[in-house]
Amino acid sequence: MEEWRTILSKPIKLESIKGITKEDIKNIKLAAKTYPMYINSYYFSLIKSKDDPIYKQCIPNIEELNEDLSEDPLAEETHTPTNGIVHKYPDRALFLISNICTMYCRFCTRKRKVGKKENISNEEIKQGLQYLKDHEEIRDVILSGGDPLTHDDNKIEYILKQLREIKHIEIIRLGTRVPCALPQRITENLCNILKKYHPIFINTHFNHPNEITEESSKACTMLANAGIPLGNQTVLLKGINDNIDTIKSLVHKLLKIRVKPYYLYHADKAKGTKHFMTNVKTGMEIIKGLRGWTSGLAVPQYVIDTEGGKIPILPEYLKEYKDGKIILKNYQDKEFTYIDP
Ligand SMILES: *Cc1c(COP(=O)(O)O)cnc(C)c1O
Ligand code: SF4
Repeated sequence: MEEWRTILSKPIKLESIKGITKEDIKNIKLAAKTYPMYINSYYFSLIKSKDDPIYKQCIPNIEELNEDLSEDPLAEETHTPTNGIVHKYPDRALFLISNICTMYCRFCTRKRKVGKKENISNEEIKQGLQYLKDHEEIRDVILSGGDPLTHDDNKIEYILKQLREIKHIEIIRLGTRVPCALPQRITENLCNILKKYHPIFINTHFNHPNEITEESSKACTMLANAGIPLGNQTVLLKGINDNIDTIKSLVHKLLKIRVKPYYLYHADKAKGTKHFMTNVKTGMEIIKGLRGWTSGLAVPQYVIDTEGGKIPILPEYLKEYKDGKIILKNYQDKEFTYIDP
């Protein structure tokens, strides 16, 4: 298998995409001036033709220059007590340790910064560690970014080791798109490092069944064999995965590679991503098309992320609750009455 660094540095050729025109390439370059384009050669190789679900996730689109929507819809900056920390919830915090990714997703909620700013410095990482050390209420740290696995193995080990020296930190999570976007980054050496610092959990990010390949399946198997529970966060994206069949196929394929669907995110209202927004109704219909119709294990929690954190959205299963009498609807819309004891 090719070494991940080689895959990262190999050039890609937009002209090689089936159906792409000169005009498209001109527009791609224009959009990329505002929001940088970077696609590693593995992820690029998954594009079959123009406008397919992989293309739309990574190729810049002129619609990104739409000025509506805000840069920081989740108000992360106001919840940033020190560089690299987002502390919104009582007992857990994000620790952003990288501004770079192995590809830039066009719908990224942190579009304002990923790939645009200088990478996070060692000094900033030290400040983040200090904040985590000083805040004893934090028992769950989520390494995120950018992509935390863009660092080399030594740096990752250094950070994990420092975190494990903080007694109040019980669990460490990594939020990384690497198992999907650059699965070759998951090496034996990396797995051997990660498993020294258990309990470690990984949430990865697959959006479409076409992303589940032999390579990504191998990466997830290696991580699962290292004892790391794997979850998946999908973003609901217009024209990419906003229908029941696509999501159903995705969640089934994820379970087969030992990844549990965790969240289905309603797309954030981030500037430059308006063309990916769907209606909340669509998301609710997708969940309704899964719950009861397939394994409960396959059903993610549908959430809208807000300034105040993630809020779950459920189709209407509870129709009425009055005087201890509950009227429920099952997955087939049949009504059942339950008397609350
Ligand atoms: C998503 C998120 C978390 C983790 O949320 P869980 O529901 O525990 O997975 C923590 N902090 C911030 C700021 C987040 O956005
Ligand atoms: S990998 Fe994650 S952080 Fe990086 S561009 Fe994609 S969505 Fe954004």
